[in-house]
Amino acid sequence: MLKNFKSSDIYMGRLEKNDDLLKELTNIVQQNNIEAASIKVIGAVQKARIEYYDQDKFEYKYKEFDQALEIVSCIGNISILEGKPFIHAHIILADQEGNCYGGHLAEGSKVFAAEFVIQTLQGNKLIRKFKDDTKLKLW
Ligand code: ZN
Repeated sequence: MLKNFKSSDIYMGRLEKNDDLLKELTNIVQQNNIEAASIKVIGAVQKARIEYYDQDKFEYKYKEFDQALEIVSCIGNISILEGKPFIHAHIILADQEGNCYGGHLAEGSKVFAAEFVIQTLQGNKLIRKFKDDTKLKLW
């Protein structure tokens, strides 16, 4: 499966301390009606919540970190889920020793500082639908 897009506007922004990383980014893309894009974030969080998808049980498992961590890299894409812009992002976080943890970004990650870039795309919308083989809503 391959879809063609043309590059469009690029937005850069910053989240405020104590924002929920995923919730606030979702608010921004929904308020600005950004329906197709790639997204990148760097910065730091005061605590984090990530998920791991168990491919045998077809369910997400949560992992929470109640500590300050660097956002080494957070990348994702924006598509349409249930009629609204939706962010699917993965994140790598580092502790003070440089140990890294990673997974699917979940709500519940509290920003210390975060800078983001959203590269919007023009083309047919990517609409997420339930796929039986993975039990995930994919485009
Ligand atoms: Zn994911």
